[in-house]
Amino acid sequence: MTTEKREFQAESKRLLDMMIHSIYSHKDIFLRELISNASDAIDKIYYKALTDDRLTFNQDDYYIKIEADKAARTLTIKDTGIGMTAEELESNLGTIAKSGSLAFKKEVQMEEGQSIIGQFGVGFYSAFMVADVVTVYTKSLESDQGYKWESEGADGYTIEPFNKADVGTKIVLKLKDNTDDENYDEFLDEYRLKQIIKKYSDFIRYPIKMDVTVSKPKADNEEEYEDVLEEQTINSMVPIWRKNKSELTDEDYEAFYADKHYGFDKPLKHLHIKVDGAVRYNAILYIPEQIPFDYYSKEFEKGLELYSNGVLIMEKCAELLPDYFSFVKGMVDSEDLSLNISREILQQDRQLKLIAKNIKNKIKKELQTLIKDEREKYETFYKAFGRQLKFGVYNDFGANKDDLKDLLMFYSSTEKKLVTLDDYVSRMKEDQKYIYYATGESYDRIEKLPQTELVADKGYEILYFTEDIDEFAIKMLMTYEEKEFKSVSSGDLGLNDESEKETETEEKDNQGLFDKMGDILAGQVKAVKLSKRLKSHPVCLTADGEVTIEMEKVLSMMPDNQHVKADKILEINPNHEVFQSLKEAFEKDQEKLALYTKLLYNQALLIEGLPIQDPVAFTNDICKVMV
Ligand code: ADP
Ligand code: MG
Repeated sequence: MTTEKREFQAESKRLLDMMIHSIYSHKDIFLRELISNASDAIDKIYYKALTDDRLTFNQDDYYIKIEADKAARTLTIKDTGIGMTAEELESNLGTIAKSGSLAFKKEVQMEEGQSIIGQFGVGFYSAFMVADVVTVYTKSLESDQGYKWESEGADGYTIEPFNKADVGTKIVLKLKDNTDDENYDEFLDEYRLKQIIKKYSDFIRYPIKMDVTVSKPKADNEEEYEDVLEEQTINSMVPIWRKNKSELTDEDYEAFYADKHYGFDKPLKHLHIKVDGAVRYNAILYIPEQIPFDYYSKEFEKGLELYSNGVLIMEKCAELLPDYFSFVKGMVDSEDLSLNISREILQQDRQLKLIAKNIKNKIKKELQTLIKDEREKYETFYKAFGRQLKFGVYNDFGANKDDLKDLLMFYSSTEKKLVTLDDYVSRMKEDQKYIYYATGESYDRIEKLPQTELVADKGYEILYFTEDIDEFAIKMLMTYEEKEFKSVSSGDLGLNDESEKETETEEKDNQGLFDKMGDILAGQVKAVKLSKRLKSHPVCLTADGEVTIEMEKVLSMMPDNQHVKADKILEINPNHEVFQSLKEAFEKDQEKLALYTKLLYNQALLIEGLPIQDPVAFTNDICKVMV
């Protein structure tokens, strides 16, 4: 065996180069990678010890030790794992072909010049993000001889025999010198190291030990304290998600929620999922009680923490949650995911897609159970996040509406509270054809809308839509249990009323009047008609066609105002005294008719919450009537 310098395989060299000139922002992940390798190596010897009679098994033999030497500026990661033979050193650390990385590269055709790091995980070479020199001392279970592997970076590495007593691996990192931008000393700091281990490797199932400074009473004088080094296990080793639900209390889940900084509130509900089938994963998910302050802003980032077999690989994996469930917080751990996985790869990972689908269904089911069993909690949830569900119905051309339709709630005119569509349909009257809704700024204002009069009078329930998204979502839904939605402002209310025939003749008799009024309001309304829906109010505005008045309002407020207009119809109540005045004016006084028509139109606009084009003219008109 010679100690001459060997070349890294070309691919490795490139990756190494990138590590050294580190493009990666989270340098601290190098420790996660090395600890994870150590844990893998212990997994292998652990399994052997458990299954091979020739080996003795002692639980205490399996651990990882982290040592920082400030004077020498070295950080050491030692494990009692299976170790490597000279051949393994050569092939495992000299090429990246061994690691999962290359497989990914083949799967996803990389474009020339694209960053490799963006494409897959970083593995062993991440050590070079923080170290000038990396030395690996190792002795394999299969060999009597130990070896030393050393590299100062991309120009190569050496391997030579080394007398190592114990089986296992020790990796020594000679940290880079500090620069103006980077302070590598932080990786020698006891507190910082503990923090990094806790953050990324808390749930590694072998103890990660470190000598920690503690203050203790002196042996000779109990009054005085001194700093001594004490070996401590830094990680908690057993992840809460691997525990049985029966061992855990609500408080445990709440503590985990707080510990993880998922939110500052108390979660409304938690789900502990263990799936062991075509996909295998554990998850703990939370439905928060309060809206995060930035929830409905661009800054908000959805996602769940993603673990691969106990090792954190991503803090916010967006692929695990559909947008409409973006409020869900929590984590997922799966054995079926490689540690070396990046965002780009994840999007195409089949396992991950299966997990995401599974999770989506679990959340949906949980929310449905909440509706059934804990209605009050659901209402609290819905007041915070219902808007997001409605956007979910509307977005992607309604692709997800079937998943969401049972989760929607609207305020009901008869129940005076939020009801589900299922509630509504189950209460529908025998002769009732449609699910009726009315739109407006507030429940109060909708309640007073003239258009609701006849429908309400029939004893039909009306859903009150007060949010921009409501009507758009419902248009996307089209029906619920085969019942169509109908705005109380739409042309045909489908009431099958006997009075309808009467109004038809009345409409014909007065066609001249309506046409004349239509001329007066030319460009503002499409037509003037006799109303079938009004009882006590003289007039109202309705819309003909797909665009409703509410939609026109919403669309006109959008940044890319498309100037979409509803085809407005001014409806006149034939049973109101005003109708007589109109008829008289039509016969005798055209000027008066014009005045009345404009007044009535402006009134209808006001009731609808639409702006009056010329308020001064409107008030002058009122004065004219008064004198
Ligand atoms: P990966 O972990 O995805 O395989 P890495 O680059 O992290 O990729 O590691 C490359 C290989 O080096 C590992 O697969 C393993 O065979 C070997 N290796 C790294 N660290 C150790 C260690 N502490 N003990 C034993 N083998 C190791
Ligand atoms: Mg690795």
